[in-house]
Amino acid sequence: MAKKRPTKISLTRVRDEARGCRACDLYRHATQTVFGEGPARAALMLIGEQPGDAEDLSGHPFVGPSGKLLDRALADAGIDRATVYLTNVVKHFKFEPRGKRRIHKKPRAGEIDACRPWLETEIALVKPQVIVCLGATAAQALLGSAFKVTQQRGVVVASPLPARVLATVHPSSILRAPDEEARRLEMKQFTADLRAAARALSSS
Ligand code: SF4
Repeated sequence: MAKKRPTKISLTRVRDEARGCRACDLYRHATQTVFGEGPARAALMLIGEQPGDAEDLSGHPFVGPSGKLLDRALADAGIDRATVYLTNVVKHFKFEPRGKRRIHKKPRAGEIDACRPWLETEIALVKPQVIVCLGATAAQALLGSAFKVTQQRGVVVASPLPARVLATVHPSSILRAPDEEARRLEMKQFTADLRAAARALSSS
């Protein structure tokens, strides 16, 4: 089936178009498309990998456990979530059923490429001054497959995008930290990376 290309009209119109996207197979098992949300012209855009279980059910990005952790880190970094545009590189939840649970599965390169027109359209319409990639999938989708979040997190890096771009970890990785102390340190570093984004914003 031919890819359904978003039309550059308005974010609302594009969001509506994305509801019917069939450009890869991920729509088949997911509940719904989870498009980005936030102000139509946000200065800061955060981009994650894909919606999780709670996002798939609610239809909104970053509302599950990772989203709650992100909310705390944003508040600690002095960033009002209401001013941020939040989205993902892939708009449908990819998972593997395990009993009654649905376990997150990393999207393939072909799925990321199929979904890319939606993300490119969001960036083109929202026109953020600063973009933060949350996790390796988002960072590598936007900055190339050689990009290493562990080595270049929290710093503005060269990119072809019309914005200053930084990368950090995905908040879900903090939830997977092996113990409380590791989680506390990860959270501290994550918040520091978001503060760096806020500084990049004020200097852009
Ligand atoms: S994941 Fe993206 S490309 Fe695939 S069907 Fe959903 S919206 Fe379309």
